Amino acid sequence: MADTGSTPSSIGVLTSGGDASGMNPAVRAVIRTALHHGIDAYAIHEGYQGLVDGGDLIRRMELADTDGILHKGGTEIGTARSKEFRTREGRRAAARNMLERGIDALVVIGGDGSLTGANMFRAEWPELLAELVDAGEISAADAESHSFLRLVGLVGSIDNDMSGTDMTIGADTALHRIVEAMDALRSTASSHQRSFVVEVMGRHCGYLALMASLATAANWVLIPEQPPADDWADQMCRDVRTGRQIGRRQSVVVVAEGAQDRAGNPITAEQVKKLLEDELGEDTRITTLGHVQRGGAPSAFDRFLATRLGFTAVERLLTDAPGAPAQLVGLRGNRVVTSPLMECVEQTHAVAERIKAQDYDGAMLLRGGSFRQSHRILQTVQQAAARPTQTGRRRFRLAIVHSGGLAPGMNAAVRAAVRLGLDRGYSVLAVKNGFRGLRRGQIQEMDWMDVSGWVSDGGAELGTDRHIPTTGAGIEQVAEQIAAHRIDGLLMAGGWTGYQSAYELHRHRQQYPALDIPIVCLPMTITNDVPGTELSIGSDTALNSIVSDVDKIRQAAVATRRVAVVEVMGRHAGYLALLSGIASGAERIYMPEDGITIDDLTADIHSMAEGFRSGKRFGLIIRSEGADAVYNTWFITSLFEKEGGELFDARQAVLGHVQEGGDPSPFDRIHATSLTARCIEFLSEQLESGGRASAMIGFQSGRVQFTDLTSYPALIDAEAKRPVEQRWMESKDLAKIMRR
Ligand code: ADP
Repeated sequence: MADTGSTPSSIGVLTSGGDASGMNPAVRAVIRTALHHGIDAYAIHEGYQGLVDGGDLIRRMELADTDGILHKGGTEIGTARSKEFRTREGRRAAARNMLERGIDALVVIGGDGSLTGANMFRAEWPELLAELVDAGEISAADAESHSFLRLVGLVGSIDNDMSGTDMTIGADTALHRIVEAMDALRSTASSHQRSFVVEVMGRHCGYLALMASLATAANWVLIPEQPPADDWADQMCRDVRTGRQIGRRQSVVVVAEGAQDRAGNPITAEQVKKLLEDELGEDTRITTLGHVQRGGAPSAFDRFLATRLGFTAVERLLTDAPGAPAQLVGLRGNRVVTSPLMECVEQTHAVAERIKAQDYDGAMLLRGGSFRQSHRILQTVQQAAARPTQTGRRRFRLAIVHSGGLAPGMNAAVRAAVRLGLDRGYSVLAVKNGFRGLRRGQIQEMDWMDVSGWVSDGGAELGTDRHIPTTGAGIEQVAEQIAAHRIDGLLMAGGWTGYQSAYELHRHRQQYPALDIPIVCLPMTITNDVPGTELSIGSDTALNSIVSDVDKIRQAAVATRRVAVVEVMGRHAGYLALLSGIASGAERIYMPEDGITIDDLTADIHSMAEGFRSGKRFGLIIRSEGADAVYNTWFITSLFEKEGGELFDARQAVLGHVQEGGDPSPFDRIHATSLTARCIEFLSEQLESGGRASAMIGFQSGRVQFTDLTSYPALIDAEAKRPVEQRWMESKDLAKIMRR
């Protein structure tokens, strides 16, 4: 493509530094987006070494070259550490190799080292070209038409250690690996009443250690940013001993690689093991998770994240003004954001410097609010008991109830509510079997150890139900029970029917004074179809379950040239279909919001056939269960089977209730815990101040926010049974660009 100065000629993409799961989906998205815009795309193999060496290491990519990599861990185009790229000669060779192919825009996927190198390369670019012209290696005209290097960085790093993004590509997958391993360890530790010391990666960043501890209920965690008090050894031994006395069958201490004491001396797993053995006589084993943490198929979140970031990186390269500074594309809350690359790198280094200077509060401050909040929550929930109340009596009585379909993470929410409520000096009551149970008075007061081990359990120990108390009798019975049990505040952790029920109670508060209490709704549903939030808890587990099932379906299908029609949950909302479709590389996604027409089906059969004619071996269609009443999954499969003729066959897979099952994903455990903490804070603020406000908590514009429950009717489309605003629908365009 001719260079006009306003768009790049060709785009190159490389992965560099430590590998991270999710790099493949990022590379795929960069290439597909570039090709979508008619721009040549080059994959640079072996990181910067490929740029320096050129030749066959810089390969022009066609769409078909990006098939079959979305679900693979590591990086298919390879990564390397390159000494030569650190030299001026190396970078000059890199510039020459790029110009030979007309590449003057780069997407670099790597850690802070790789991004620092990239930025230096970009700054030097004009000088490097001048030197190449002087040496007669390129023409002056060539230098002029590629006079600046466009650069966007994406952070691929399992440590989640980079400013400018809340999540780095690969961190969520690493968390999956750690949590799987720690769940497995807990069962063996518990059988033998053993202690385990688990060492996880993170030389300067305690993210993985902290979040894995929160997600698995570890008893102690040691992270670089927040070294323990000087008497930590006594404290830890005391806590582990108390834990044993109250009946914990296992003790788990998590140590980040870079853990240290307040004086900056390293704290090693070996040291912790020795302490537990010598002081407590505990049978203690060390597990160093090591490179296992890097490996494995990317999680659903990492696939979706990497796809969004790769897409935005190219969009950014296409729209940036000539000579604009390099940008880093990252995630803030749930939104893709762009920030100046070097500022992000500098802030990242600042954290490491604070730690080195033993300014730990400063380091924690730079890590951000949710990191600090997670640390605080962990310290409370891992206690062996609630702090004693000042007066000896419990000030308020909070109740928690589920409603709607099962959502993985419900037990984690109850655990957090019970422990954080008790720790504030309140009583916590658990309502069994949803609002039907509440009507019948199925209510039980909870104790600290009643929720032991609940963080990792799928299902819902309290039971959930879809009953909505709408009739006069129903509301009256609920009010009677709330009065009888002296409930001062209610936390509803559930889905669509829970929101409706909570609103019904709120609406009747003048009629029944017992209902005039603060109520807070916590979004817990796999289908992500409740108002006041962009994301609901449980959906991450469901997405991972779908994506891993589709991986298996793909494996079986490529052998026989097949189209798979996969039906996922979502009667009224297409969230699971769209997100799992993007994360598993679907050609077509059918959702209730759009419906299905015969013209759609005809066009889709033609484009699928075209794909198979040009070498495709697997086709994927994801259909929401409620996408259309007539064109159901069986119908669509039959149609594709018939029309596929010799080209492909078609099979259906209805995933059904497995999507609600399984242990909650790390994200769902962490979000269930942290959002519940905010809900308890909300109820506490209302009660302590005599307030009576009710709200829905959620993620909006990338932040945790409360929306007044009074606005519930305005936020939903009651007939369609979904929220009026569904921001995730914005990703529909992304799905179209990514399909082949
Ligand atoms: P990460 O990107 O994971 O932090 P490294 O720090 O090892 O990994 O960097 C990966 C590669 O990036 C290095 O091998 C080198 O080629 C390049 N690189 C890193 N820092 C620089 C720099 N300051 N100047 C030039 N190249 C660099």
